[in-house]
Amino acid sequence: MHAVFCAVVLKLADRSSGKAVDGQETHMRGCKRGGFALNYLALLGTKGGPAIRPGSTMPTAHLLHLEGCPIIIDCGLGVARGLIDQGVALKDIRHIFITHLHSDHYLELGPLLHTAWTAGLSNIVQIYGPAGLDAYWAGFLTSMQADIDLRIADEGRPDLRRLVRFHVIDTPDVVQLDDIQVSALRNIHPPLVDTFALSFKTARSHVVFSGDTAYFPDLAGFTQGADLLVHEAMLEAAIEALLTRVGNGDERLRTHFYAAHSTAAEAAKIAAAANVKALALNHLIPSDDPDFGEAEWLAAIRPIWDGPFYLGHDGLRIAF
Ligand SMILES: [Zn+2]
Ligand SMILES: [Zn+2]
Repeated sequence: MHAVFCAVVLKLADRSSGKAVDGQETHMRGCKRGGFALNYLALLGTKGGPAIRPGSTMPTAHLLHLEGCPIIIDCGLGVARGLIDQGVALKDIRHIFITHLHSDHYLELGPLLHTAWTAGLSNIVQIYGPAGLDAYWAGFLTSMQADIDLRIADEGRPDLRRLVRFHVIDTPDVVQLDDIQVSALRNIHPPLVDTFALSFKTARSHVVFSGDTAYFPDLAGFTQGADLLVHEAMLEAAIEALLTRVGNGDERLRTHFYAAHSTAAEAAKIAAAANVKALALNHLIPSDDPDFGEAEWLAAIRPIWDGPFYLGHDGLRIAF
């Protein structure tokens, strides 16, 4: 089942879903068309898991700046701050992808959209994610109803509830965001089932995100020849110390790590099998143990992957 190439995502053929209330086309608005745009990925949050502690990095979020289009992949805590630090005006957000429903990947989706709205958002934002994400949004809107209604009445804001569209990632649709082909592949992240790797491909660039996944050999085919593979990773040598530090989990936490996540060596194996041009590790487990730094991560991957390599840290920009 996991080998099945699945979905993406957006029924772009249905252009009506991208029209704002004023009738303006919105799917690629805010994206520069024509000419040369710098393509880059910014890692906004690079730790695995939702907890933050003094000195730690932030949970998962990415800004993919592709053909002039700012695309957000995952919205862990800190995503709004991370985007601002990258110079992105929140009102220009048009496309957000959520890989799966673990809180370190979508906790700040609602606050991001609300903050974008107060920062001047007036066009439709398209959100692509697993089934159930719309229920999160409905709950967020309910929790903020008093504020939203007040700002509409008191400040003349457009209705936030009409500025957001959800699209379920499922099989077997494939879609074009104009010149950007987005595809998804169901990965291995139990106990969740709707959990995806994502591929963004244009005529000149190809970037793949593993999402949260256990070692998943089929990802190599999905990623073949990509300019950049962004793969989650845990550092096996540091796991025992991490379990001791967490303190309030039991054996199930260790079992979860190994059943649902990839070691750095396994991520390197995928990069090598896929012949990618560069590998970046993110969703680092651990990300904040001073006893385990870049040298230890390199020691884990170098026997397998000797190509260009980036160890993720918050704010890292990778051009491609
Ligand atoms: Zn995660
Ligand atoms: Zn997860």
